[in-house]
Amino acid sequence: MAEPQDITASVAEVIRAVRERGDAALLEYARRWDRVDLPPGALRVPPEKIEAAPARGEFADAFRRAVERIRRFHEAVKPRSVALQDPEGAALEMRWTPIGSAGLYVPGGKASYPSTLAMTAVPAQVAGVARIAVVSPPGPDGEVCPEILLGAKILGLREVYRAGGAQAIAALALGTASIAAVDKIFGPGNAYVTEAKRQLFGEVGIDLLAGPSEIVVYADETADPEWVAADLIAQAEHDESARPILIASSAAVAAAVRAAIERRTAAEARREVIRAALAKNGRFLVSATLDGAAREINAIAPEHLSIQSSDPRALLAKVRNAGAIYLGGTSPVALGDYYAGPNHVLPTGGAARFASSLSVEDFMKRSSVIEATAAFVQNRGSDVEVLAAGERLPGHASSIRARRRGIAGARAPVDRASGTRAPSARAPKARAGLRAERGYTLVEEEAGIKLNQNESPWDIPDDIKDRILRAMRDLPWNRYPQRLPEELRRRIARDEGFPYEGVQLGNGSNLILQWIFEAFGGPGRRALVPKPSFSLYGMWGRISETGIEEFELGEGFEYPSGAILERMEALEPSLTVLCLPNNPTGSDLEPDAIARFADAADRFGGLVVVDEAYREFSAARFDRTPVARERPNVVLVRTYSKAFAAAGLRLGYLLTSAAIGNELGKIVPPFHLSQFAAVAGAALWGERPRFQERIRRIVAERERLRVAIDSLPGARTQSSEANFFLMWVREPENVLAALKASEILLRRPGDEGNLGGALRVTVGSPEENDKLIEALREVLQGR
Ligand code: PMP
Repeated sequence: MAEPQDITASVAEVIRAVRERGDAALLEYARRWDRVDLPPGALRVPPEKIEAAPARGEFADAFRRAVERIRRFHEAVKPRSVALQDPEGAALEMRWTPIGSAGLYVPGGKASYPSTLAMTAVPAQVAGVARIAVVSPPGPDGEVCPEILLGAKILGLREVYRAGGAQAIAALALGTASIAAVDKIFGPGNAYVTEAKRQLFGEVGIDLLAGPSEIVVYADETADPEWVAADLIAQAEHDESARPILIASSAAVAAAVRAAIERRTAAEARREVIRAALAKNGRFLVSATLDGAAREINAIAPEHLSIQSSDPRALLAKVRNAGAIYLGGTSPVALGDYYAGPNHVLPTGGAARFASSLSVEDFMKRSSVIEATAAFVQNRGSDVEVLAAGERLPGHASSIRARRRGIAGARAPVDRASGTRAPSARAPKARAGLRAERGYTLVEEEAGIKLNQNESPWDIPDDIKDRILRAMRDLPWNRYPQRLPEELRRRIARDEGFPYEGVQLGNGSNLILQWIFEAFGGPGRRALVPKPSFSLYGMWGRISETGIEEFELGEGFEYPSGAILERMEALEPSLTVLCLPNNPTGSDLEPDAIARFADAADRFGGLVVVDEAYREFSAARFDRTPVARERPNVVLVRTYSKAFAAAGLRLGYLLTSAAIGNELGKIVPPFHLSQFAAVAGAALWGERPRFQERIRRIVAERERLRVAIDSLPGARTQSSEANFFLMWVREPENVLAALKASEILLRRPGDEGNLGGALRVTVGSPEENDKLIEALREVLQGR
């Protein structure tokens, strides 16, 4: 083997030759090193030859199944762009796009690795790379090895070149007449290939610098010494520089493994290589404690780590550095090398301290997107000016100042294309609170099972629908609706025990809540709201220019009554808003506490608003109706959208005192509620007993679903009083994506207020819930 400095120099020479002479240099090196005489123009394997590869037989079938599994895994972990709406008026995005072209190096000759072709080509395809070029050294017959051609055929790759070694890397990086340059090069190779990647890094993207392959097997008394020995041997058979390392929990375990290695090696075809690798780089360590073993592992940072012990996850919890980790005796490394799904191109030589396995993101890159509103520049630009001045870059500061002046209306900027003044600076301006706001972004997603919007899984029964439609048919549509909405108000007031003036109806409780912010919030006033909770409270607060003050829910998301009272007394908020049960946590609060808040608010003239969108699902003891009847400064906001299966109807109502109801009534436009909503609302109100049975089923399903999910590995749920609950799983974004692929939508609430990556699950019908449990089981156990 050549000395490192010889390798450096000879690779530099190869790169220079390819840079200067292109294809001619490639042909020359093929003659010299691969000992094949390729005629000019023969570097590319004709696509027809790939098409003609015989793709039948058990190798082809197994390869196809492996590719399918690898593709499924990589699709699930593909990075997704993230867009944030900053409350101060900036839209920020992290946008992922594929690289334009990828060059894949696939070793050939003695050790040909079609599996490496699959492990590099599949993530490239999943990333959406438009051009994939494969290089592989020709064998003595001048051809790329048939398994690689077969692999290329199955993977749908048609650009394959007969070129190997440093010269192939140079050709991919620099481009020749036959091989167009690529944006980034992937795939492991020998020392020359790695050195060429090192020298060309920067001119071209490089995946990672592969070194000798290594494995650490941790084995305790419960491990089968034969299996452990077999895994160490499998590693050692790669080549002499492979590093097989055992960490045993005792000297006896180490001795048993050594004996098994002796026995098994004698029967191995590649026993010479195996013995050489074991003698040169084999290590047999003993660590009596898991902490000691973890210390060793983290220091080695192995490419592969196999944990064969009674409780592999106990050690896993302590491991920080390892490329791929195999848990338990039934997870041999070879499974991951070929078939399991995660990538087998891994960081070697201790690089697992800072590098990761190859994956889809390596074939992609990120761009940040920043879109600021005029209000953002106006309000926050001064910070930037100060920072720029601090760095003594006045040009930076003045680029901001110019905007702020322009926005303030001095002179509108001229639109280059039309030569006219752009309307933006002179355009009518909404109030500052509204200008800084982006508005609620509706994400419309379709799927068979929608457990993302807290809707009822069952539609309104047909007989009720028919009755509503008949009534609509017989009503005059040319008249403003007056009588029917008033009748419904009166009826709700009577049934709930509130004055008629204290009941208002609106197109959804959303609108009613917005009215409340408009009427009782406003500039110079404050609203105290929970965190985490329904995101619209913050938005309505900002739009109405009400100062938003948040209080955090407790560790288990319980409402902190004492802390709320203290904040109320300190801040004297015009509005104290509670969401009960809370969206998205499901927490509820005893009516006593509401009474105390109302009494406290009474001392400074504050209003206590309870958003009860999900009240029907919570336990009877949380009923706040009596408390609200007795306290004129409490407003209960309710909706038909959830328990009454009428989200499409857009009907909400509020219950409060006559005084508050009359104030709010001034905001309600005349004839606000449509006749249809009034008719349907009355029919559904009369049918409330029929919905009781459905509510009971949802509540029972909620508890059943939680028990089932809690029994899945790595999943945990939060108790809830609503028709939804929070769930924590590892890698929630991936779980979300995998479920979506199974036609199940969940909701990812933001990460505010200790939600810690939670997903929100709406309780569906029993059948839907069964499907969710099954899909989750598959996703979580497939890891
Ligand atoms: N409040 C909360 C807490 C909600 O979750 C929702 C709907 N997601 C609403 C109010 C609004 O409901 P609607 O406008 O349909 O009555």
